[in-house]
Amino acid sequence: MKKRLVLLGPPGAGKGTQAELLAEKLGVPHISTGDLFRANIGQGTPLGVEAKGYIDAGNLVPTDVTARMVKSRLAEADAAEGFLLDGFPRTTEQAELLQEMLDEAGVALDGVLNFVIDEDIVVERMLARGREDDKEDVIRNRLAVYHSETKPLIDHYGAEIINVDAEGEVEEISQRVLDAIK
Ligand code: ADP
Repeated sequence: MKKRLVLLGPPGAGKGTQAELLAEKLGVPHISTGDLFRANIGQGTPLGVEAKGYIDAGNLVPTDVTARMVKSRLAEADAAEGFLLDGFPRTTEQAELLQEMLDEAGVALDGVLNFVIDEDIVVERMLARGREDDKEDVIRNRLAVYHSETKPLIDHYGAEIINVDAEGEVEEISQRVLDAIK
């Protein structure tokens, strides 16, 4: 089984839901930058205070802040044997920083799961989810940021990309993910 994975796909593609299920099966941590930011916001940490304005507007948090947060999370003991990175990298610059972190640790990615889904479906899902940044204008901005900043990662990762059809029921998609990482 592949255990060092990046999850890619548009906002609302269900990466977080699938990562939770997969993390349990593989016994590796689900590392979601969105969740880490939201936890920091909830606790009122300096990092949370800095990130909040960007997140509320649907813009990317500056890369130096984000990468530092990911680096320290990846250095924790539970990530030594594997991890599911959800929401990082989101730009080619972040992908290069991740590569440096992995090189320093002497490990390599096993693959990049790309969640493929129709955009009308993700908008519907996000509106139904109703998180604070799930308002229509913010969603539209997050999708625009995805197109300009994150989608180029599909080409960046090239042969490492494993496409997963992310339309359908949770269990069905979960089975596709498991088949994809065997
Ligand atoms: P979604 O996948 O629905 O967009 P996330 O929880 O992954 O939700 O991210 C929420 C927000 O957190 C993003 O819109 C962005 O502001 C911020 N964020 C998450 N990951 C990153 C990252 N790698 N770089 C910069 N900002 C990030």
